[in-house]
Amino acid sequence: MLKLAAGGVVVLLAFAALFVVVLSGVAPVHGAASRPPVDLVPVNVHPGNPLEGCPHPPVTQPFGPSDLAGEPAVFGFPHFHTGIDLACPYGTPVHDVGGPGIARVQLGNTGFGNNVVVRVATTNGTYFVRYAHLAAIAIGDGDQVAVGDLLGWEGSTGYSTGPHLHFETDLGSASVAAAHDPSGWLTL
Ligand SMILES: [Zn+2]
Repeated sequence: MLKLAAGGVVVLLAFAALFVVVLSGVAPVHGAASRPPVDLVPVNVHPGNPLEGCPHPPVTQPFGPSDLAGEPAVFGFPHFHTGIDLACPYGTPVHDVGGPGIARVQLGNTGFGNNVVVRVATTNGTYFVRYAHLAAIAIGDGDQVAVGDLLGWEGSTGYSTGPHLHFETDLGSASVAAAHDPSGWLTL
C-alpha cells in the first residue's frame, strides 16, 4: 500500500514537471509573439570560430527579434534575425565549423547573397548550417566538406550594409522558420 502511494506521488511529480517544461517552452515573450524552440547543441557538434585570423569576432547583430524591415517575420515577431552576425575584415577566410556535410552553394545579390549551406547530421537531427553574404565561394555545389575546410571569404553580398558573416543553423530544413539559436556552434 505504501509502495503504491509512493509510486503515485512520483508519477504525479513527473507529470507536474512535464507540465512546467511544456508551459515554459511555449510561454509568450511579447504579447502573441513566442520564442523559437530552445536548442540543445547536439553532442557531436564541434563548435568553432569560422573566421580565420579573426579571434573573438565582434557580434554586430545577435539572434533574436529585430527592427530591420528586410528581416523575416518568424516566431511571431514582425522581424527576426535568424542568425548571428560576425564582423571581421572584408575577405576574411570562412571555414566550416560544427560538422562535416554536403554543401549547397547559392550565388546572388539578394537576401543571403552568395552563401553556402552545409547539411550536418547530428544527434538532434539534420541541421542546415548557413554561411551568408560571402564575397566569393571556394567550393562547388554538392561538395562534401569537413570541419575546418575553406568555404569562402567574408563579404557583403545580398541584404547587407557592410562586411560580415551571417551564421545560421536551421533544424530539419534550410528555412529561416526552422532557425535555432546558433551560439552553441560558435567559440568566439
Ligand atoms: Zn545576419
